[in-house]
Amino acid sequence: MHTRIATTALAISLIPFSMARADECATTRYEVSYKGDDNFEVAVHFTPSSQNVTTFSYEDVSGQLTLDDYFSDVTVSMSDGPGSPLSNVDLGNWRMPEQFVGKEVVLRYRVTAKQDEASWPFGQEEVGHHFDEGFYFVGYSIFLADEANESCDAVVDFDLPSGWGVHAPWTQMTPMRFETASLERLQRNGFTVGPNIGSQTVKIGERSFTFVYEEALKTTAVEAQTAASGLSAHFVDLFGGAPESDYFIFLAADDKPGGGAFADSFGQRFVTPVRPEEKVVWLHGFAHEFIHRWLGHGIRFENETDLEWFQEGVTDYLTIKGLFATGAIDEVELEKKLENSIRRYLLALRFGGPMSFAEAGKEKARNRMMIYGGGAVFSLLLDAELSSQKGPGAFEGFLSELYAGRDTHYSYADILERMNTISDGHAGEILEGLEHGMRASDIASNLSPHDVRLASFMEEVYITFGEAGCARKNPTCVPAFLRNKENSR
Ligand SMILES: [Zn+2]
Repeated sequence: MHTRIATTALAISLIPFSMARADECATTRYEVSYKGDDNFEVAVHFTPSSQNVTTFSYEDVSGQLTLDDYFSDVTVSMSDGPGSPLSNVDLGNWRMPEQFVGKEVVLRYRVTAKQDEASWPFGQEEVGHHFDEGFYFVGYSIFLADEANESCDAVVDFDLPSGWGVHAPWTQMTPMRFETASLERLQRNGFTVGPNIGSQTVKIGERSFTFVYEEALKTTAVEAQTAASGLSAHFVDLFGGAPESDYFIFLAADDKPGGGAFADSFGQRFVTPVRPEEKVVWLHGFAHEFIHRWLGHGIRFENETDLEWFQEGVTDYLTIKGLFATGAIDEVELEKKLENSIRRYLLALRFGGPMSFAEAGKEKARNRMMIYGGGAVFSLLLDAELSSQKGPGAFEGFLSELYAGRDTHYSYADILERMNTISDGHAGEILEGLEHGMRASDIASNLSPHDVRLASFMEEVYITFGEAGCARKNPTCVPAFLRNKENSR
C-alpha cells in the first residue's frame, strides 16, 4: 500500500507489464533449496532471449544496500557445463555472456534471506523477512527472470527440510511443486516457506482466502477473517465482481506497521502484541490492501506514477466508506477518518506547497500526504458532487465501469476524461482546485451543500454530519452518499 499506516507506507508493487505473445512462450523452471543459515540456492532452467536477467529491485532507506546485494554467486551454464559468472550491471539487472543466448541454460545463484536486516522504503513486506521459524518473500526477491518471458508460465520445485511447508497463491501441483500462468505472477506475489506456519483457509462467497500468520497474530488473524468476509461481499458488490483467483493474506509481526499489495496476495505487518484500541488502525490498512485487489491489480494504469494519487487516494477513501458500510467503524470514527484525510492534505500543502498530483507520484514516499490525503479529499468532493447530480452510488458506479473495462491500461487522460464526462467537468475543476491549494474554508464550502459541515482552524478540522442541529453520534445524520450500503447503485 502506500498508505502508510502510521509512520510506514503501505505500498503497492507494480512491475512493468510486458506483452510477450503466447506462441513465443517457454516455461521457466525454478528449483529452490534451503541450505541452512538463511541461505537458499536457486537453479533456473530456461532459454534466454537476451543477455539480461532481471528482477525488480530497489535501495534500502539508507541508500547503502539494494535488494541485489542478497543475490550472490550468480552463474550460468549449459546444462551441466562449467558455470560462467554474471555481473550485476545495474539495479535489478545481471548480464550473461552472449554465447548463452538462445540456448537451454541453467542459471544458479544463492539468496541470503537476511533482507530484514535492512529497512526498505515501502516496508519489509515488499521484500522479505523471517516469519516465525521460516521466511516470507515477495517473488522478485528470490526469482531472477528473463523479462521477455514475463507473460509465460513458470514452475517452482522446492527442496526443503522435513516438516517445512510452502504457502503461496500459485497452483499447487504437489506439496513442493507450484505452477503459475505467468512469471509475472510468480514474481509479484508473497509466499512463505518454513515449519509450523499458521494458516487457515476460508471460503468467502465463491473465492477461497488463505490467512497465513505468525503465531503472535493468531487472534488478530481471526478478527481479520471476520472483517474480510464483510469487506469482500461489500467490494464484490461495489465493483460488480472480483478476480477469480484464490487469495492469500500474510500477517507478520514487526516493529513497524505497514502493508503491501500484490497480484493475488498482500502482506501486512503489525507491532505485537496488538492492542484492542489499535484495531481502528490495522483494519484500515487491511481494508486498504484488500481494495488494491480491484484498484491497482484489477484496474491498472498505463503510467502508474501519474495516477498514484488516484489509485491510493480513491483506495483510501473507499477504505473509509467500506469500513463504515460494513459496520467495522461507527459514525464518529467515520468523521475522524475523513478529518484525517483532509488534515493530511492541508499539512502536505503547508509543508510542500501546492503541486500537481501527477508530479507528486514521481516521489511517492516523500509526497505520501499529498497522494493519500489529496487523493482521498478529491474522492470525497467528487463523490459528494456526483451524488447530488445523479444520486448516491454514482461514484462507485464509475469505478465499477473502470473495473469492467480492466483489460485496458488506463492513462491519466482516459481517467480524467471519463470523470469529467460523468460529472459535467466538475472532476477537473476539483482536481485543479486541490492542485492549486484549497484552504480548509474552500473544502468546507464545497462540502456544506452535501450535509458534511467542516469547522477548521489552521490544520485543525472537525466534521459534523447532517443539517445544522443534527445530533452528533446519530447515524441518521450521516449523508446518504457516505452511507452507501442501503443506497448503493
Ligand atoms: Zn495502497
